[in-house]
Amino acid sequence: SWAIENYMGYRMITGEDLMKKFEEQVRTLDVRLELDRVSSITPEENLFAVTTVSGITVKAKSLILTQGKQPRKLGVKDEEKYLGRGLSICSTCDGPLYKGKKVAVVGGGNSALQTAVEMSGIASSVSLIVRSTIKADPVYVRKLEGIKNITVHLHAQITALAGDPFLQYITITTEGQGDQRIEVDGVFIEVGWTPNTDILDGLVELNANKEIVVDIDGRTSRSGLFAAGDVTSVKSKQIIIAAGDGAKAALEAYEYLMKLD
Ligand SMILES: Cc1cc2nc3c(=O)[nH]c(=O)nc-3n(C[C@H](O)[C@H](O)[C@H](O)COP(=O)(O)OP(=O)(O)OC[C@H]3O[C@@H](n4cnc5c(N)ncnc54)[C@H](O)[C@@H]3O)c2cc1C
Repeated sequence: SWAIENYMGYRMITGEDLMKKFEEQVRTLDVRLELDRVSSITPEENLFAVTTVSGITVKAKSLILTQGKQPRKLGVKDEEKYLGRGLSICSTCDGPLYKGKKVAVVGGGNSALQTAVEMSGIASSVSLIVRSTIKADPVYVRKLEGIKNITVHLHAQITALAGDPFLQYITITTEGQGDQRIEVDGVFIEVGWTPNTDILDGLVELNANKEIVVDIDGRTSRSGLFAAGDVTSVKSKQIIIAAGDGAKAALEAYEYLMKLD
């Protein structure tokens, strides 16, 4: 994010700068940092063997899993180019930037409807673009109904993005109606997220969304394995929550190790 305004201690900071500050602090401690990608985790007797794509294997009595999630994409040309230039994957973070502007929201589930309703109070107009039909809880559908500045496009999808350097137009293709060009200042993608849990392969319990199920202390279904942040079943996905839950998981892991000895 180019503007984080809800992490305590900083009035405004970019995602990159906040990461650098976290890294600087970690490097002052007795922590070994390996910039690598974990490819597998294998439980061994009283240990976990963590193997990376570059072939390193680290063995540990306890692990804290914090590998986050990644957004599902629209699959439209130039999507990467417009991310952060009008195309957003985080309405909670970027919504306030579109006060009095024209926005579109893509998706037909709870998150998309919630975003459309919230943005209707901030933006001048909201186009809700739904690939098939709305599949959200009745409470969100009821909220959507009757809001005058929301236009719902069913059986529609974005097929082109345009503008230089910022997103200015989207083309939507609606079944049986052809193409329509809509002027927008921002588009929020709300078509879901994929947690980075492929590497876990039966190691811990995942929920229906493939998130790691944790209890309130960050314990997973497997003894010695803890988890925190966006990769977990914790509902709210924000930095302060990931950081707080990370601290809780660390304290639990510490207690677990103390009891082992
Ligand atoms: C565009 C955008 C803007 C946002 N703005 C805000 C904001 O303003 N305020 C706010 O509170 N939240 C914001 N968020 C949400 C916030 O970024 C997340 O809630 C937070 O980063 C979660 O932290 P995390 O450590 O759980 O996961 P991440 O920050 O996603 O970190 C996970 C890390 O694990 C790495 N990883 C994944 N798989 C592996 C593997 N196999 N091996 C090794 N490493 C791996 C990833 O590369 C990544 O570096 C925003 C999110 C987005 C996408």
